[in-house]
Amino acid sequence: METPILRMAGNPEDSNELYIKREDLLPFSMGGNKVRIAEAFFRDMKQKGCSSMIIYGSRHSNLCRVLSALCRSRGVPCVMICSHEEGEEQEITNNTVLVDWTGTEIVHCRKQEIAAAVEDVMKRLTAEGKTPYYIFGNKYGTGNEGTAASAYAEAYREILEYEGRQGFSFDYIFLPSGTGATQSGLICGKLLMGGRASVMGVMISSREYERAREVIREGIVSYFERAGKILPGDYQQEIHLLDQYRQEGYGKYDKRIEDCIREVYCRDGVALDPVYTAKAFWGMKEYLREKQVKGKKVLFLHTGGGPLFYDYLTKREKASLL
Ligand SMILES: *Cc1c(COP(=O)(O)O)cnc(C)c1O
Repeated sequence: METPILRMAGNPEDSNELYIKREDLLPFSMGGNKVRIAEAFFRDMKQKGCSSMIIYGSRHSNLCRVLSALCRSRGVPCVMICSHEEGEEQEITNNTVLVDWTGTEIVHCRKQEIAAAVEDVMKRLTAEGKTPYYIFGNKYGTGNEGTAASAYAEAYREILEYEGRQGFSFDYIFLPSGTGATQSGLICGKLLMGGRASVMGVMISSREYERAREVIREGIVSYFERAGKILPGDYQQEIHLLDQYRQEGYGKYDKRIEDCIREVYCRDGVALDPVYTAKAFWGMKEYLREKQVKGKKVLFLHTGGGPLFYDYLTKREKASLL
């Protein structure tokens, strides 16, 4: 399913042409990059002959929302391992509710206990006669990087085809970078199919910079290995990761990001959430300004996260009534 690429209104003082690819409009479970990624995991599960799915994420997780809905709609048992920081056990988000609706069993654990929780659930499902599939590979969460990347290696083709139809090339593609799977995928697409745009990941969490780069690199290597393709020697030049716009870390934002949400909504009618898309959009604008980038064609990948936009709206509304 192809999503539209649209020209954004932009500021009068902007000399760059801004475009947006609306992955938020993908037609399942409120859209977002996780729709493509969840489908890739689902196919991989089937290919590996597994019959039940183990997913992992926080209470905000868009991936868990989409995967739990996909499993439910296709009759595949699903268990979610949900990690939380000390003190945030009580927080309920829109995504938590939607996961709960699907009847997905939720196993709670602390951030340091993920591997043990995965192992426990694997053993239990196996004892019940099921063949479990853990989306991130082994209990430490490695070994399956290429699967998520494959989703955006394929989606990249849509960007190239759009460029072909328009008769121009983008100079940049900006996107929020969390686990880096989406970014790895786009880079793989570019390495395989060509194109001119630099893929610019805007970090949204406080994950260590070198570690984040390394995960993206592993995603690229793993995808090429599985696809049986030869990786160009200079592929690491394609990894552009910005760590200066993440503010205080995952889920943390200040007034600049809130203003950005309003501005983009008022100018373009597009909803951005403060955790991923607005942070990255704001980071992109800052980058273009700081580096004095002018006269370029810039594509922003709207990776979805609709339920988080509504979490934010509700929170604002409540705050304004206090
Ligand atoms: C997961 C997510 C991201 C980050 O994607 P990664 O592939 O993990 O880097 C960005 N935006 C939204 C809305 C997401 O749900």
